[in-house]
Amino acid sequence: MLCAMPDLRCVVPPAASREIRLTSWDSLRVIFKSPNPASCQPLQIIRVSGMSDSPILAPVLVVGAGLSGLVAALTLAKNGIPVRVVERNLEHRKGQRGAGIAPRTLELYHFLEVPEIEKHATLLPLVQTYHPGGVQPLETLPMMGPASDPTPSCPYINYLALGQDIVEGYLREQLAKYSCLVELGAEVLSLEQHAGHVEVRLAKTQGGHRTEKLERYDWVIGADGARGVVRKHLGVTFQGETRQEDDMLVGDFRIKGLDDQHWHMWGTIVAFRATPDLGKNGFVLFANARGIDMKKLAADHDALLEFLYSVIERKDLIIEEVYWVSEFRPNVRMANKFGEGRVFIVGGSVHSPTGGQGGNSSVQDAFNLSWKLALVMKGLSPPSLLETYNEERIPVIAEMLKLTTHLLDKSVEADRATTGKAFERGQEYFMLGVNYRGSRIVVDEFGAQTAGANPYVYLSAGTLQAGDRAPDSPGLEPMFGPREEHTSLFDVFRPWYHTVVIFTNGPSQARSTISALKKYPSTTIRSVLVYPKGSSGVKAVEGADFQLIDGGGHAYEWYGVVAGTTKVVVVRPDAVVGALVGGIDGLQQYFGQVLL
Ligand SMILES: Cc1cc2nc3c(=O)[nH]c(=O)nc-3n(C[C@H](O)[C@H](O)[C@H](O)COP(=O)(O)OP(=O)(O)OC[C@H]3O[C@@H](n4cnc5c(N)ncnc54)[C@H](O)[C@@H]3O)c2cc1C
Repeated sequence: MLCAMPDLRCVVPPAASREIRLTSWDSLRVIFKSPNPASCQPLQIIRVSGMSDSPILAPVLVVGAGLSGLVAALTLAKNGIPVRVVERNLEHRKGQRGAGIAPRTLELYHFLEVPEIEKHATLLPLVQTYHPGGVQPLETLPMMGPASDPTPSCPYINYLALGQDIVEGYLREQLAKYSCLVELGAEVLSLEQHAGHVEVRLAKTQGGHRTEKLERYDWVIGADGARGVVRKHLGVTFQGETRQEDDMLVGDFRIKGLDDQHWHMWGTIVAFRATPDLGKNGFVLFANARGIDMKKLAADHDALLEFLYSVIERKDLIIEEVYWVSEFRPNVRMANKFGEGRVFIVGGSVHSPTGGQGGNSSVQDAFNLSWKLALVMKGLSPPSLLETYNEERIPVIAEMLKLTTHLLDKSVEADRATTGKAFERGQEYFMLGVNYRGSRIVVDEFGAQTAGANPYVYLSAGTLQAGDRAPDSPGLEPMFGPREEHTSLFDVFRPWYHTVVIFTNGPSQARSTISALKKYPSTTIRSVLVYPKGSSGVKAVEGADFQLIDGGGHAYEWYGVVAGTTKVVVVRPDAVVGALVGGIDGLQQYFGQVLL
């Protein structure tokens, strides 16, 4: 029991329910210790006691319950930060739209412990192209290259698909475990920043009645899409262009007569991607044709069918059902800053969704911001840490827009005769190379040139630098205990702590590094000793959370460690290498910047 403040009730997620009284937000630092430190989760402060129907008491307001809002909320909840998520729609959104999930995003869903996404996502079907009226495909090819087998450093290696509405449903289910339910029909109208808080005008529609009130939050995250009110409040410019003439159409369909194992394309004008998410004969439409009034087609289904049949020239195909359809105007735009003071923006409110990287980038924005905000809110990091959200994400999004605009240009310049080759995308779209090498908070003592690096470069073994995605390494055997109980680095990394991986030959240097970590709050750091393959007879190091042997040799290979030497790798809560250092000095340099 922690005492005082009788109005706050606290439960331990996800299963056990113990109530604890809190003295202040400081209590959020408390973590339950369990035999497996990776599974320790911070406490959650949930509701005002005795008022079970009252809104969630939360210092953070997330505006918008799309991908970015849900990921921001879930990451904060996993960090023990109470969040309120408001969504102006009265119902959860339908439609597959951003269904493409890049391998890096799959990794982040793994760290956020949403296994349903990986379980239900499927490989993108092969593309088949046709001439109008043609029944036999002109060619069959993969959109994202041939499917590959996972590798030790990349367990998620293929670009997968799962409807954005389904992914959002799984994220909401996870959030609900933290008693955070998306509040529908709640729209932020305006906001005003003050020195210590943000004042928000919120309209709620319930049972046909609309009420408005002013509320106070410590922090606001605008995940309210491209036309969001939060970005406008920040006075952020949304620089770039809007392609009015290149409006597109998206929708979910059921079509009889079309093989539902492929992605059928008629030039770049009409594409029907088969998806198991919509059941038998389910397809997602993507159409774009310069000069066609897509808004009209979205509103008038007869006109829509006429347009589709005029392009595909296949009367044998029966469009049996149009579940949902919407037009979509490509924006090639990004915000010039992603936050200021106590207000931040993520996802579609930051950048445009052209080119199939938007949802993925939105998830990555939210992940980058949320762990930093959690540490600042707990009083463990300086507010300046939040500036690095801007600094790290702006170059990545700028590069993403360059890539995706090139794709957009290719697709609108093409026509009915264009073959599927025009759509093929390179490895950079998998986003495993997205990096923050130029960030001021990363530390690399191994002589790597970090500034000016391409933030989207695709990486291979032996090139790891601070700021890069932290590779996985399976086959790690416990030094003490049954060797067959393998683990992997990805099963240790979690978004609510830093993981300090100490590659070492013997326990003496490890001991001094573990002892140096004692000065930092224990709830924010996990330590992992990794001994080279074949090590035995080593004495246990007191205080280390994990003591492992690199049974497969993968960790030493990917982290570029020569057996017999010591290397310390700090992996940030967003599974990015924060520091690659030789010992305590480098470690202190890193944490000196990130923690108070
Ligand atoms: C056709 C199409 C295909 C796409 N394909 C892909 C793909 O394959 N891969 C990919 O990664 N991305 C893709 N995208 C992009 C992806 O859909 C977007 O980038 C993503 O939806 C952005 O997520 P978000 O949560 O930031 O914003 P949004 O999804 O726009 O969500 C914003 C939410 O905020 C709510 N809101 C707005 N204002 C307020 C307010 N004032 N108060 C309360 N709530 C508010 C909205 O109702 C909405 O629910 C595609 C997009 C389209 C249109």
